[in-house]
Amino acid sequence: MSHSCCSTSPVARAHLDEGLSAGATGVEPAHHARGVQVGERADLLVVGRISTGDPSLPSAEAMAVSGGQIIGIGTKADMDALVGPSTTTISPDGVVIPGLVDPHMHIWTSLLSLTWTDMSHERCPKFDDVLALVKAEAQKAAPGQAVLGKHFDPILYPGEPVLTRDMLDQVAPDNPVLVMNSSGHFFYGNSAMFAAANVTDATPDPPGGVFGRTDGRLNGTIGEAPAQLAMISALPKPTQQDIVAGIGQILNTAARRGVTSVRESATGALAGVGEYALLHQLNGAARLPVRVSTAQFSVVDGKTPAQVAADWAAAGVTPFSGDEMVRADAWKVITDGSNQGRSGYFMQPYMGEVAGGKANWTPEGMHEVLGIGLDAGWQLMVHTNGDAAIEFALTAAEDLLPKYPGDLRHRFEHVSFATDDQLRRMAAAGVSPSFLMNHVYFWGAAFRDTILGPERANRLDRLKSAYDAGLRPSIHSDFDVTDIDPLLAARTGVQRRLKADGSVLNPAECVTPEQALAAITTHAAWQIHADDRGTLAVGKLADFAVASDDPWSSDPDGWPEIEISETYLGGTPAYQA
Ligand SMILES: [Zn+2]
Repeated sequence: MSHSCCSTSPVARAHLDEGLSAGATGVEPAHHARGVQVGERADLLVVGRISTGDPSLPSAEAMAVSGGQIIGIGTKADMDALVGPSTTTISPDGVVIPGLVDPHMHIWTSLLSLTWTDMSHERCPKFDDVLALVKAEAQKAAPGQAVLGKHFDPILYPGEPVLTRDMLDQVAPDNPVLVMNSSGHFFYGNSAMFAAANVTDATPDPPGGVFGRTDGRLNGTIGEAPAQLAMISALPKPTQQDIVAGIGQILNTAARRGVTSVRESATGALAGVGEYALLHQLNGAARLPVRVSTAQFSVVDGKTPAQVAADWAAAGVTPFSGDEMVRADAWKVITDGSNQGRSGYFMQPYMGEVAGGKANWTPEGMHEVLGIGLDAGWQLMVHTNGDAAIEFALTAAEDLLPKYPGDLRHRFEHVSFATDDQLRRMAAAGVSPSFLMNHVYFWGAAFRDTILGPERANRLDRLKSAYDAGLRPSIHSDFDVTDIDPLLAARTGVQRRLKADGSVLNPAECVTPEQALAAITTHAAWQIHADDRGTLAVGKLADFAVASDDPWSSDPDGWPEIEISETYLGGTPAYQA
């Protein structure tokens, strides 16, 4: 788990540039489904235990599919009239459920450390476990091969020391070691890593970056992108093949959790239009295992947001363009940082600090960047983490949105610490929230005890209040901030249990199982403009997963253990375990 989707962008860009620039240039949608007709007879009949997610018909025995669409669902006898000589019947071994939707995840920035070793609190419950893992990895590595770790989160080891060069030298004296802090803002390196990067005690700090020193000697901390770049440039760069393999790995990991649609939430942050073009190129070569909706990133170094918007338009990437597999839908703007990284923007200071963070924009700049997206016709997708960030973006949105009528379904992301007033005003303005629900599970105790205090921590991820305000909230992973695991996140929506101590964070915000499941299916689909997905019903796409149990009729406690054996897109296999 890392904290922030974009703090590592310059580092990721420098590491991935060669592989990405070798990618596609022109946007060429594959249109796999073009010319496929929906007929009166089924080409596919799915027979078995079907859980539809549709309250008007929660379960069914059979589902008829033609041309990728559901043309009938109900009892087996109901489907008889839809079966013809060319109908193929399948009886999946498990419960057929609607494909799940992750409405906010990241492909590109996640590629930076995709192959790095997971050194999360989840895997290393004690600080010493981190060092033991580095040691084990170093012993496995070839001479000189770097040991690379990610998701190390010192916030979750209160009272423990900072990871130092000397500690890392002790467990890995011969191999370079680089461990990324889950905030993305820091690396920790050993002596061999500094040597590989030609950084010595005498090396000056680059502007904006810091090589931490104790009494003039490098202590192992490498802070912020300019210093991190010196380290990353000493590592071998991923080839285009590596990048393509990584994209496949990410999408298959999503499918393994029952996901059939995602929103890539910062498309173009590293390589501009080429990222979107590459998705189409890959999908043209072999249909992707998951449908991808993209949010075009509004910020590129050295360009104004207006120039960025013009670049997308010049490449033909306009709102809702693409095809049934890869479609451009939104304009992404980031208001503030990460709350667990203490860079979210709050009205009151962080515990132990005098300030509550800041916004990435001036009020005028925010107004302008949102207006540029709206002028181009995009759905707004605005990252707002702290309560002041929500206020900041909402103020601009309240002024702008009345001038842009239409069913664009604008979204605020994370909306981690909203007030009652803000939720009410979001509903009035036509802005729906998407919550990183497992903030509660993984960091709830840290927010309560060390970052924000109990009163503000209770306001974390107010899914119930969002429903009560008349909003259509969704739940997302923000992968690789958390793993793509919608059923675990939905369980957190129901239980609000903290991983650290098992306690419940503000039970008043717990939702019903049905509400939690809607947030990873129908509402998430609605938010990515995919009204043809989210339930299994006539007229919807036959996007479904085969699960070991039915979330709609089983205890939420067991949802994370539900296994997915297969997924289908438009009635054809997309993933097999
Ligand atoms: Zn994100």
